[in-house]
Amino acid sequence: MTHTVATAKKLEEALRADGVRITRQRAAILKVLSEAEDHPDATELHRRARDIDESVSLATVYRTLTALEEQGIVHRHSFEGTPARFETADLPHHDHIIDLDTGEVVEFRSDKIERLQAAIAEELGYDVVRHRLELYCRRKDK
Ligand SMILES: [Zn+2]
Repeated sequence: MTHTVATAKKLEEALRADGVRITRQRAAILKVLSEAEDHPDATELHRRARDIDESVSLATVYRTLTALEEQGIVHRHSFEGTPARFETADLPHHDHIIDLDTGEVVEFRSDKIERLQAAIAEELGYDVVRHRLELYCRRKDK
């Protein structure tokens, strides 16, 4: 999924609206978050942010992620067997495959599954508000 530089600005604005001051450290975190296409965990985000600004601490990464998550701007994924991983919430809806051998996260979207879920919920008297679907997989060619 493609992220744009505009995302970093949007993240900044959302934090500002919440009264959070955009320090150099936070700006670095927002930049790497908006450019990430691989669902990095906090440690990896910290590593990348430090390439931009050495003074970014892991604690600042955690605090910033928590603030962004509380505002629904960032999704935290608690995939089994991996530390929490993050992605911006502005992407079109998609689900995830987690490769059990490599930990790699692959995005997919199926209209068939979306429709089926809506139909199941409907039958049971519900509207789907949101959902998360995670497939834990192993490559066939292994
Ligand atoms: Zn994703």
